[in-house]
Amino acid sequence: MKVAIVGGGVSGLVAAHLLHPEHDVTVFEAAAYAGGHTNTVEVRTPRGPLAIDTGFIVFNDRNYPRFQALLAELGVASQPSEMSFGVSDGDFEYASTSANGLYAKRSHLLSPAFQRMVADVPRFQRHARELLSSASEPSLREWLAMLGLSDAFVERVIVPQAAAVWSADPDQMWTFPARFLVDSSTTTGCSACAGGPAGARSAAAPGATSRR
Ligand SMILES: Cc1cc2nc3c(=O)[nH]c(=O)nc-3n(C[C@H](O)[C@H](O)[C@H](O)COP(=O)(O)OP(=O)(O)OC[C@H]3O[C@@H](n4cnc5c(N)ncnc54)[C@H](O)[C@@H]3O)c2cc1C
Repeated sequence: MKVAIVGGGVSGLVAAHLLHPEHDVTVFEAAAYAGGHTNTVEVRTPRGPLAIDTGFIVFNDRNYPRFQALLAELGVASQPSEMSFGVSDGDFEYASTSANGLYAKRSHLLSPAFQRMVADVPRFQRHARELLSSASEPSLREWLAMLGLSDAFVERVIVPQAAAVWSADPDQMWTFPARFLVDSSTTTGCSACAGGPAGARSAAAPGATSRR
């Protein structure tokens, strides 16, 4: 059969890879390179060049069995990786790695807004699990408004997290389905984000430099 695949991102390329032994496959790609979001770019830094993966950075043993089988078939190496979340914005910063990281700025121990932000994390995780098991499809804005989470949690946890996961402009992301955020966090294994499984791994093409 003649098959046309529109889009040479990872979805189109994997489809082509699986179909081509038995079909006559043509991939149509609008960009000047294959891979779509999945692309490695070299960035020059004062410490030397860094190979940065833009779009496929982590996976885990629990949610990516077929992806792992594909990597094994293609001979793509991977390595264990710690996945954590941190925010640094001028005078404000925290990291999810430990209590020491969370309270890297010691004055946060005395800040009611920061304590409320921390207390909102398990509340958010509980609501996230409920959302995933429901058929409800609120936008991120609608969902957060329903949950009544603090401004600090929304502005210092959700906004930077969504920007990190989706590379999204905060102004655009409010209309995205809330499920996207929760799903991405749990699927990739960002336990610091929405209570997902730990044990992330990062993948690198054979011979590629991977520094994270
Ligand atoms: C910064 C970032 C980090 C990410 N990190 C992870 C991660 O760690 N782990 C993970 O599991 N996922 C991650 N993702 C998500 C993952 O990268 C995407 O889910 C995946 O790359 C999507 O692949 P795709 O082929 O479906 O779409 P895309 O990569 O968007 O590919 C679509 C392709 O179709 C082409 N196209 C569109 N319209 C046309 C047209 N009309 N004609 C021809 N070509 C067309 C586009 O040019 C593009 O090449 C990340 C995404 C981003 C942005």
